[in-house]
Amino acid sequence: MEKPLSVVDLHCHSTASDGRLTPTALVEAAAAAGVELLALTDHDTVAGIAEAQAAASHCGLRLLPGIELSSTWQKRTLHIVGLGIDPQAPALVAGLSGLQQLRAERATAIAAKIEKLGVKDALQRAAAIAGDGQITRTHFARLLIESGVCKDMKKAFKRYLSSGKPQYVAVQWPAPEDIIAWIHAAGGRAVLAHPLRYDMSAAWRQRMLTAFREAGGDAIEVCCGNSETSDVNTSAAEAVQHGLQGSVGSDFHDPEQRWARLGRIPPLPNNVTPVWAGL
Ligand code: AMP
Ligand code: MN
Ligand code: MN
Ligand code: MN
Repeated sequence: MEKPLSVVDLHCHSTASDGRLTPTALVEAAAAAGVELLALTDHDTVAGIAEAQAAASHCGLRLLPGIELSSTWQKRTLHIVGLGIDPQAPALVAGLSGLQQLRAERATAIAAKIEKLGVKDALQRAAAIAGDGQITRTHFARLLIESGVCKDMKKAFKRYLSSGKPQYVAVQWPAPEDIIAWIHAAGGRAVLAHPLRYDMSAAWRQRMLTAFREAGGDAIEVCCGNSETSDVNTSAAEAVQHGLQGSVGSDFHDPEQRWARLGRIPPLPNNVTPVWAGL
């Protein structure tokens, strides 16, 4: 069912990482969809923000500079969104250069594993697909599809690129306390992205939320593009329980992905404090 319009959307991707739209096209699409406050949150890069800011000033939409950072906690990858960051803050810039180095090393290792499937020049081709953008597993998934190894994104992850699958390469990303410290040093708020999308039990999720709060985290995404009412209720209760604020974000990547559309997010329940108040 079509989700209601939220005029706030604090999680989406452009061609600076694994999104399909340029920052300009993304901002225009968000404004056309009715979004009034948008955060661009590319994976481990702020490269799209200046262009998005310029586009926003022409569209009558407010853009919050953001980012989605990769973190490792208890051997699991968590995504932490920074909202309202200064993209030039030295601690953040230094942290990003380390993350980008880890991504580059991982890309080389993934490419070697993809070549075992008979795909030639995997690194160069994935880099060409990523263009100027930060290279991600999404680009390797597109390479697998282009090469005829699999039919769609879902299969590319399910069979090859997800944790435990043959083309998966584990990375020790920085710890949540480091990531959160960079976000705070850049004047932003730290939001645990899509808390229900990690493959963990409710008991582990409780531990994760406790650790995230203790590491200085400010909020969790209570409402995501693919959230059902029961998911929103679960995350709202957990936000309140852990003293965390709430965020809303579609996690838009691609106009063809119907389950994550710009601004199509269930509303934040009234008992949760919006993370964007005062930003
Ligand atoms: P990376 O940060 O390079 O490991 O790539 C993570 C990105 O891959 C996520 O942000 C998603 O955009 C994408 N992704 C992960 N799992 C899936 C999946 N099952 N189907 C489609 N995209 C996925
Ligand atoms: Mn992504
Ligand atoms: Mn994510
Ligand atoms: Mn995302």
